[in-house]
Amino acid sequence: MVDHVVIIGSGPAAHTAAIYTARADLRPVLFEGWMAGGVAAGGQLTTTTDVENFPGFPEGIGGPELCDRFRAQSLRFGTVIHTETVTRVDLSARPFRYATDEREGQARALIIATGATARRDDIPGTRDGELWQKGVSACAVCDGALPMFRDKPLFVIGGGDSAMEEATFLTKFASRVYIVHRRDELRASQIMQERARANPKVEILYSHQVTAVEGDGVVQRTRVKDLKTGAERAIESAGLFFAIGRKPNTDFLGGQLQLDDQGYIVTTPGTTATSVPGVFAAGDVQDKKYRQAITAAGSGCMAALEAEHFLSAHPA
Ligand code: FAD
Ligand code: NDP
Repeated sequence: MVDHVVIIGSGPAAHTAAIYTARADLRPVLFEGWMAGGVAAGGQLTTTTDVENFPGFPEGIGGPELCDRFRAQSLRFGTVIHTETVTRVDLSARPFRYATDEREGQARALIIATGATARRDDIPGTRDGELWQKGVSACAVCDGALPMFRDKPLFVIGGGDSAMEEATFLTKFASRVYIVHRRDELRASQIMQERARANPKVEILYSHQVTAVEGDGVVQRTRVKDLKTGAERAIESAGLFFAIGRKPNTDFLGGQLQLDDQGYIVTTPGTTATSVPGVFAAGDVQDKKYRQAITAAGSGCMAALEAEHFLSAHPA
C-alpha cells in the first residue's frame, strides 16, 4: 500500500502538517520517533517547562502539555501515529520508500519535520536531574524573560552568532551577561560581535571554560576557569545558557537531500520545497534562524499545503 503523505517528526511542524493534511482528506501517517535525536516524541518542547509565547495560551502552558495537545488534535482528524523512528529513506524514485525498525512503507509525498537538537556540554550541575531547566537552558528567547533571571548576572557559553544574539537579548532582563568562549577569538560575524561588545552589560571572558554550575535547587553560582592561567573562580549568577550550536536531525536521509554545511535541509526560499520534488521540509530541521514553536508550526502548515498541491498535480 502507498500512503498519500508520510510525516516524519513530532514537534509543532509535524503535527501542524498532520492537522492540515488530515483535514484535506490525505490520511496522513506520522512517525513520531522513539527518543529520536535524543528527544522524546513531542520534540524539543517536551524538554521545557512553561511556554509563554505561543498564541492562544495567555497564562502560558507547559511544554509537554502543549505537545500532548498538538498530538490530540492530529489524532482527532484521523492521523495515524506510529511511535517509531524512521531510520532510512529512498528518495530516488516515486513513490518514496522509508523504513523503521518495525516496518517498511511507501509514500507519494514526504514531509520531514525531524527538528534539531540543541547541543549541551557535559558540565557538572547542568545535567538532567541537576540544574537543567532550573536556571540552565539552551534557549534564551524561550526562557530569558522568566522572573528568576531578572536583574541577576547570567552566563552564555559560545562564541558564535547565537551566543552574541542570546547574550544581547538577555541584557534586557539581566544585570550583567558574561559570554564564556573557549578561544581568544570569536566565531561570530563582525556585526554581531560589535553589537554584543557595545552593550555595557556584556562582558566577554575569552579563553575561559565553565567548569561547574552550583546552587540549591536553582542556579546560584557559575565556576569558570581561565584556560591560559588555569585560575578558577566562582561568580554569582542565576542562569547559564548554552549557545554552542545545534544538530539538525538529518542523518537518516543518507545525503539524498541537499543539506547546508551544518546539515540543515535546504529549502527553496519562501517555500518548504527541498531538492527532491515531492519531499517537503518544515520546522527547525530547515530553520537555523527563528527556531520557535510558532515558526515551526507555520512552516508545517506550508508543507501540508504544498504537499496537497503536489499530489493534485501528480495523481497516482
Ligand atoms: P522538534 O520540536 O525539534 O521535534 C522534532 C522531533 O521529531 C524530534 O525531537 C524527535 O522526537 C522526532 N524525530 C527526529 N528524528 C526522527 C526520525 N528519524 N523519525 C521519527 N521521528 C523523529 N520555542 C518557542 O516558541 N517557545 C518556547 O518557550 C520554547 N522553549 C524551548 C525550550 C527549550 C529547552 C528548547 C530546546 C527549545 C524551545 N523552543 C521554544 C524552541 C522550539 O521547541 C522549537 O523551535 C520547536 O519545537 C521546533 O519544532 P519542530 O517541529 O521543528 O521539531
Ligand atoms: P556556531 O557553530 O557558529 O558556533 C558555536 C560556538 O560554540 C562556537 O564559538 C564554538 O566554539 C562554541 N562551542 C562549540 N562546542 C563547544 C563546547 N563543547 N564548549 C564550548 N564552546 C563550544 O553555532 P551558532 O548556533 O552560533 O550559529 C549557527 C549558524 O546560525 C551560523 O551560521 C550562524 O551565523 C547562524 N546564526 C545567525 C544569526 C543571525 O544572523 N542573526 C543568529 C544565530 C545564528 P569555536 O568557535 O571555538 O568552535
